[in-house]
Amino acid sequence: DVLIDEELQFNTLLLSQPTLSGLGNASFRIPSPIQLKAIPIGKCGFDLIIKAKSGTGKAAVFSIIALELINTSKNAVQVLVLAPAREIAIQIETVLQTLGASHKGLCVRSFIGGLPFDQDIKNLNKCHIAVGAPGRVKHLIESGALKTNAIKLLVLDEADKLVSGDMKFDINYISKKLPLEKQVIAASATYSENDYKYLETIMSGPTLVEPTTDTPLLLGLKQYVSVVKSNLNVVHQLNIKNDELLRLLSYITFSQSLVFTNYQTRAESISNILNRKGWNSTYISGLQSQPERLKAIRSFREGKCRVLLSTDVSARGIDVENVDLVINYDVPLQPYTYLHRLGRAGRFGSHGICVTIAAYGKELNEYRIILGSIGGNNIFVPQLPTNKDLPND
Ligand code: ADP
Ligand code: MG
Repeated sequence: DVLIDEELQFNTLLLSQPTLSGLGNASFRIPSPIQLKAIPIGKCGFDLIIKAKSGTGKAAVFSIIALELINTSKNAVQVLVLAPAREIAIQIETVLQTLGASHKGLCVRSFIGGLPFDQDIKNLNKCHIAVGAPGRVKHLIESGALKTNAIKLLVLDEADKLVSGDMKFDINYISKKLPLEKQVIAASATYSENDYKYLETIMSGPTLVEPTTDTPLLLGLKQYVSVVKSNLNVVHQLNIKNDELLRLLSYITFSQSLVFTNYQTRAESISNILNRKGWNSTYISGLQSQPERLKAIRSFREGKCRVLLSTDVSARGIDVENVDLVINYDVPLQPYTYLHRLGRAGRFGSHGICVTIAAYGKELNEYRIILGSIGGNNIFVPQLPTNKDLPND
């Protein structure tokens, strides 16, 4: 068996027995660098801005801190976790339930909209940790259903998303309704200057926590670009990309693949094409109803289909263990979108491949600009090898 350095294990972080046994059940044995650094500071009650790359275990950081401060004998919402998308909220709910399984009587619920309001009100009657999307949570506070007076911790997951767009107004409202004396934790892979400025207005003297060791970006992940011919005719260009996508899927050995496109309607049409060509695939898009999206994610997670088409909005924060191939059907519009997409493969140091399909000319230039602004080793992304000995382990 593997020898584990005693000093690196979770039991050195002075966590309660129920939390340690929850970690054991989840087979979390060694804390990741960000967990090692952030959990002790957070446990002391300080406000934190956690900045760590995708897949480094940020959800466990705030989940453990939440579990350590909850009092299950008191029937009141004590922790509120906000996430920018429903799927992420559900995922966090699962993490909290798994890690909190040995906390007697603990009740974690998600409030995400798309489900009946009455059901939410019922669920609030017995709830210690509420995880939700900002819109629904604001609504529940306004209506008086969600009492905020016992909340000791507010978590903003994927915080950059929560505080930069329209959701910022909901965050403002919610944060003003919470007790003044509370802890606030923000988690994200990236923050703009404005995000920091805003976060400081709703936090008290936050500590910025980043991983200590300069871990290479997504250890074990190989990046490639596949340059295809450009064509001014959109339909022709899509045909060229579809052919390349099909070629990549049969050429690369993978277990499950996430394919990103910039357009919601494209996610559906590409998925249909793949299914016709014998690739079991499905898609998620902002145009779907909540149950439809959840169904697609479930069938992907359960391995019923191997390829999931998605836009960035739908896929943010989604964590599927077996994804080892990410394909960018379109070059993302922003550098941080590229990083978030990359983060879906090779989670937690497992091996993965990311291939970006770029049409020669304008799109390839845009990709180069993105790589340039990310910097580091990422500037040199090689063309996908055309021979059969493509590295894949
Ligand atoms: P992030 O929010 O930083 O993108 P997550 O919290 O979603 O990362 O964690 C990424 C993956 O790593 C998840 O599948 C999670 O179960 C796993 N993970 C997190 N912490 C550990 C750990 N200490 N040991 C093993 N696996 C872990
Ligand atoms: Mg996360």
